[in-house]
Amino acid sequence: MENINKKLMKLAIEATEFAYVPYSNFRVGAAILAKNGKIYTGCNIENASYTPTNCAERTAIFKAVSEGVTEFKKIAIVGGPNGNLLESCSPCGVCRQVIAEFVDKDFEMILGNSEDNYTVYKFFVDIFPFSFTKDDLNKK
Ligand SMILES: [Zn+2]
Repeated sequence: MENINKKLMKLAIEATEFAYVPYSNFRVGAAILAKNGKIYTGCNIENASYTPTNCAERTAIFKAVSEGVTEFKKIAIVGGPNGNLLESCSPCGVCRQVIAEFVDKDFEMILGNSEDNYTVYKFFVDIFPFSFTKDDLNKK
């Protein structure tokens, strides 16, 4: 049986090839598995005015959401400077917040630098505890 974590890592690594990073040379790739089984990939996209830069994780999620897919199971993220992938490339705070919008408590995050070297984390336990989500809006 195919190992989905390895597949997501492979696709995330491949996605770094398309990273548009003329300013930082820091390439990031992400591959997110939707609950419907489809996988969406993304890369980071920089801009001369810096602020409009979009991260790989959000590129992948926004691609999916723009096609009507809003529920996800897990995401693999890789990144590093000048094509050298870091042992672990953790998502920025903005991406954590965006991811939290579309995932449930079982969502997993895979961080590493190869198909054979990665760690699987529980998103809301290990990566984004004490998050603010849509559930908080309805609390009384
Ligand atoms: Zn980010």
